[in-house]
Parts: sequence; structure tokens; C-alpha cells
Amino acid sequence: KEGAEKFTFQAEVNRLMDILIHSLYSNKEIFLRELISNAADALDKIRFLSLTDKGQLGETPDLEIRVKVDHENKILTIQDTGVGMTRDDLVKNLGTIAKSGTSAFLEQMQKSNDINLIGQFGVGFYSVYLVADYVEVISKHNDDKQWLWESGADGNFAVSEDKGEPIGRGTMLKIHIKEDAQEYLEEAKLKELVAKYSEFINFPIYLYSSSEVEKEVPVDEEPAEEEAEEATDADKDEDEDSNDVEDADEEDEDEEEEAPKTKKVKETVWDWDLLNDNKALWLRSPSDVSEEEYTNFYKALAKSDHEKAAAHVHFRAEGDVEFRALLYVPERAPPNFLADYYGHKPSLKLYVRRVFISDDFEELIPRYLSFMKGIVDSDTLPLSVSRETLQAHASLKVIKKKLVRKVLDSLKKMSDAQKDTGKDESMDEEDKAEAEKYETFWKEFGRAIKLGIIEDAANRPRLAKLLRVRTSADPEKLVPLDDYISRMKDDQKQIFYLTGASVEDLQKSVFLEKLIQKGYEVIFFTEPIDEYVMTHVTEYDDKKFQDASKDDVKLGKDDKKGLKKLKEEFKDVLAWWKELLGAAVGQVKVSARLATSPAIVLTSKYGWSANMERIMKSQAL
Ligand code: ADP
Ligand code: MG
Repeated sequence: KEGAEKFTFQAEVNRLMDILIHSLYSNKEIFLRELISNAADALDKIRFLSLTDKGQLGETPDLEIRVKVDHENKILTIQDTGVGMTRDDLVKNLGTIAKSGTSAFLEQMQKSNDINLIGQFGVGFYSVYLVADYVEVISKHNDDKQWLWESGADGNFAVSEDKGEPIGRGTMLKIHIKEDAQEYLEEAKLKELVAKYSEFINFPIYLYSSSEVEKEVPVDEEPAEEEAEEATDADKDEDEDSNDVEDADEEDEDEEEEAPKTKKVKETVWDWDLLNDNKALWLRSPSDVSEEEYTNFYKALAKSDHEKAAAHVHFRAEGDVEFRALLYVPERAPPNFLADYYGHKPSLKLYVRRVFISDDFEELIPRYLSFMKGIVDSDTLPLSVSRETLQAHASLKVIKKKLVRKVLDSLKKMSDAQKDTGKDESMDEEDKAEAEKYETFWKEFGRAIKLGIIEDAANRPRLAKLLRVRTSADPEKLVPLDDYISRMKDDQKQIFYLTGASVEDLQKSVFLEKLIQKGYEVIFFTEPIDEYVMTHVTEYDDKKFQDASKDDVKLGKDDKKGLKKLKEEFKDVLAWWKELLGAAVGQVKVSARLATSPAIVLTSKYGWSANMERIMKSQAL
């Protein structure tokens, strides 16, 4: 366009577009999901703004998405009446701003060659170049004029004032479909895809489509012409209908002699066809929702076709604070969940009385559970207030507390299902699959549970039940603490554990030998985080945890008897050791802790364990 300002794409974006436009991927169709989800996001935004300022809706009060095909020019148009973009938004959002997700997505694509996940990395818009070689984005925001953004994915884009037909408010994408993607101009295909990807979009989606309608037309007296008409209609299988016409005519004749003779013919008419019924799944009672619906809803939430959920929690809370929630435990951790724990944004969507408010409310769920995906819809929270007022609202605390309880309950159920494996040989396949779920969950989210123990004092006992540990009994296996408890010896008062860099190291540990010799089981902790976890969990099932490398390990009675005699015997040796080591140690003691090794260095009850020293040293570097 003349007078357009030219821009170059941010380098990573350019690389991404280059890959997309030349790609031969088979599931290009996901572009539609991304564009519809962007339209829905924009509609959510204007609806939110209009809560506090009715004037925002202006002359375009209907919030909707319209899809239309221009067969002649091979253009697919997707238009929404959302918030729209100013000139500045267009430049920034669609090209010049570097997004952290771009390189992360490129990296992951190199590994898995899977474009399906593009939406999760915040660059979904560019998926349009899977099917297009040229795209025009016309956008009108309340604060600006109507602008046109255009690009052929050749490294540049241009932005100019759009003098074309005013679109009201919102965004219209004109997608010039590539030669090898012509199927996306077919009505049937679009209908199928919109149905697939927009089932749970909360705004009406219309497709401009043709349909056959029956129409009454006067029957011409000329027999010749009538025959000609019959012939053209023959392809459309009109035989039955022409019989109906005769019946109808007979009835007509009885009542009104003079009525002109008519017949029914089929005619193609074009009209806007509503493709979704935008119902809110979470408002329904759990007993009315099928597994398949839950699965499909999750796919829509996760913006991915092959992402699965390990479990879901769907409930309604009543009382002072009313809300409904549908939350999912993903099967796999989000790409940046642990890598960027403190930067990771929660992905729960908050609605107030069916109106979308936000999807990054950190006050809704604690950080360690921020991997949960889902929706919370509250009737108690006020609707027409600022985000800040909402964030500070007292009800939010109650909602959070209940959500955590429900999620932990559901994880407990998953965990219990796994605990029962192996105990019952007659388990069927379904139970086995159920039991394996927790194994996967622990692999993906075990760290999150441990972080929860550190961060969430109120739920610590509940979280401890979810822990899985390796022990000296069979270090290959990850078992719940209950297993350890059930194997404790009658005279055993403490739960023994050791921390170290690896299971192999710990198995060689001198702290282990006596305990093993006496038939005690010892838990092996090998992750750095375990040290911190154990400073927060002091007991389980009324039994105290005991670091086996510290000096207050309590052994059975018979050790005490011999100890007194030994102390006498080794008095001189101890004095010699004390003098030799001086200030380097706290004290030198005769101990019954060892089986075969002559001496060990121990940490006092209140000091750092040797492993903690190791971790702290490595962090200081
Ligand atoms: P994401 O949706 O994850 O932010 P996208 O690449 O899909 O990433 O979109 C980038 C940005 O472009 C959006 O965040 C939004 O600001 C803007 N955008 C895209 N499509 C629309 C639209 N239809 N209406 C308004 N803004 C849009
Ligand atoms: Mg998007």
C-alpha cells in the first residue's frame, strides 16, 4: 500500500514464520483454533472493559465471530467485534516485540516437530502462515482509527491507515489461502473445524454458508418449461417432493378454486449459520457431563489436540462464597513450569457470573499448584469493579482455600489408587492404568508437591501423604511414606532418613550400616530440595523424622548397656582425639552407631547435615 510504514519482524519471529510458511505439516488446521481463540480473547477483553464503562460497546454491541469465504479471490475472512488493536498494538503484538515463547517454541519444535503446541507459547497468531501466503489484519480499537497490517511473511510487514469499509470495532483477518491449502476454503471443512475447535468458545461463531431451502413458486402453465425445470431438479433427488406438491395441491383445490397453482422447488440461499451453542460446561452438574466432553473441554483449554489430563475436579461450592470450578491436572508439566518456577503464570481462568475476568490471577491458586488448568466462576465476587479491587476481595481467599483442598483430595485419590498396585494380583487393566497415573504425576510434578510442603504450612500433612520416596528396602522403587510406616519395627520410634547426592553414595554411607544391621529401613533423599523439605516436615503419622547422619539417633535399649562400659574403656583415646582436633570439632564421643567402621564424623542435631553443607557450598560458587 502506498504511504504504508514498513517494519521488519523481530529476528526470532522471522525464523518462526519462515518455518511455518514453508512447512509441509499435515495438521495445518490448528491455525483456525488459534485465530478463533485470539478472537475470543479480544471479545473477553471488550466485555470486561464494558463492565465498568458501558460506552465501550458503542455502536457495535454484539460480541461475536464471523467466518466467511471469498471463493473468487481465495480469501478466508475471520472477523470479531472484540477490543481491536491500535496502530501501536498492531506493530508490537504482531511482529516487533520479542516474546520469550518464540525461541522456546522453536527449540521444542526442533525436538518434537509438533506445531500443535504453538498456542501455548504465545505465538499462535503466526500459525496463520501454515495456510496463507499473505495476510491482512484490519483492526479498529476504540482509541484509534482503523488500521491495516499486512505481510507476505517475507521478513517485513507494513502498517497503514485503512480507508476501506469501516468494520465498526474489532479485528478482521483477510487470509489469502495458499495453493496447497485450498481445502480451507471449503464450507464443509470449515464447518467441521469450527465445530471441533470452538465447541467451548463463549461467543457465537457464524459461518457464511449456503443451504438448500424449499420455496413455493407458481406452476407455469407451459408444459414444456415445466419439464425443463423438473430436469434440472432431478439431480437433487426431487422425486419425493414433487409427490408432496401434488398432495398439497389437491387439498388446496378443495378449499379455494381460484388459487394459483404452486410447486415447491429447492433453492440455494446464503446466510449466517450459527455453529456453536456456546454453553458453559462448568455450569452443568458433573453427572450430566460425559468423559468425552471433559476430554474435549480440556483440549480446548490446553489449546492442544493431543494433550491429556490425568484427572479433573468439578464441583460447586455453596455458602457464603459461591462458585463453580472445573480444574484439570495435566498429564505433563507445562514447558516452563519448573524451569521458571517463580516466573510461571497460573493458567486458571476466572469468571464472575459467566463473564471472563482474567487468566492470570495469582491470588486464585498457590504457586506450587499453578500447573492446574481450568475455570473458576464465582457468583459472589462483584462484577463491576477494577481488577485491583477484585484481587483484594475477601472471597478470593475462601475460593483459594477450597480449590486447594479439592485439588489435594483428588491427588490423594490418585495416589491411593497407585498405593494399591502390586498388593492385588487380580487388578484389571483399567485399575492398572489408573494406578500408573500417579507414577507419571509424580515424575512430572513431584517437585511441585515438595515445594508445596515448603510453602504451604496449612496443608503440609496433606501434602506429605502425596510424597514418594526411595528407601534402603528397595531403592529402585518409589513408595509412599505409609509403606515405610507399615514396615517399621516394633521398637522403632523414629523415621530414619539420609540425604546425599545419589542412592549409590547413600548405600555406602557409614551412617547406614548400624541401622541396616539392626533391621531398620532408611529413606534415601537425593534431590537438593529434599534438605529444605525435611526442615519443614518434622513428623509423619505421629512419628518423628530423624536424620541418620545427626547425633541424636535413638537406637534400641541393648545399645545403652554396653555404651557405659565402652565410655570407660576409651576415655584416654577420647582425650587424645580432642586434643588433636581442637576447635575443628564440637565434641568427640564414644558411640554405638557403628557396625564395622571405626569412626565417623557426625553433625549435631542443630547443625547443617553434611549434604546441606555440600548444597550450600555449590550454591555459593
Ligand atoms: P497470544 O494469543 O498467546 O497472546 P498470539 O500470537 O495468538 O499470542 O497473539 C498475539 C497478540 O496479538 C495477542 O496477545 C493480542 O494482543 C493480539 N491479537 C491477536 N489477534 C487479535 C484479535 N483478533 N483481536 C485483538 N488482538 C489480537
Ligand atoms: Mg493466541
